[in-house]
Amino acid sequence: MRILVVEDEKKVASFIKKGLQQEGYAADTVHDGDEAVHNAISFDYDLIVLDLMLPKRSGLDVLRETRRHKPKLPVLVLTAKGSLEEKVAGLDAGADDYLAKPFAFAELSARIRALLRRGKHQSTWLKLADLEMDTASRQVHRAGQTIDLKLKEHALLEFLLRHAHRPVTRTMIVEHVWDIHFDSISNVVDVHINSLRNKIDRGFSPPLIHTIRGVGYMLTDRST
Ligand code: CA
Repeated sequence: MRILVVEDEKKVASFIKKGLQQEGYAADTVHDGDEAVHNAISFDYDLIVLDLMLPKRSGLDVLRETRRHKPKLPVLVLTAKGSLEEKVAGLDAGADDYLAKPFAFAELSARIRALLRRGKHQSTWLKLADLEMDTASRQVHRAGQTIDLKLKEHALLEFLLRHAHRPVTRTMIVEHVWDIHFDSISNVVDVHINSLRNKIDRGFSPPLIHTIRGVGYMLTDRST
């Protein structure tokens, strides 16, 4: 799950980003309206947290422009304290929910979860051979056995399942499971692939995670 945080107050932006990362989301931050539109349209996000008062281009403008390209992308608007006008304008422009500043992170997080649940991720079952994942409840089973995954392992497996039978590179994995600006891609992917392998492949047959030399990885039950 990847979230775009649009907020010109850098302290607030990094506070939100850190909180989201701790909950296992990948989060990018941008600080003005132009960057916001660019990122929202060019990259694949699951949700946008959007401040309304922004330099270069207002949040409402960003919202309208984003909606034209991505009508279903959930957008949660941050409004000034008690500003009914902003709230109404935001909802009119197509926001899915709003939160008045200042807010507790726990409340933001709860609203994000609710939006993601009711969006396209509502109980999507992903399946490969005897491996199954419910993306909404975050449950994973293999051969009927429940498998406990950490947040990043879950995100990684979801990505692999969505790209089953196709090779994926480490860079693709990093961009979708971690952040665009994640620097040390060197072994973080390999480490997580190994822990995922221990959980979903060890003791089961056939192995599903395959290393593709010089490329990356592929999740498949076909022989490679
Ligand atoms: Ca602002």
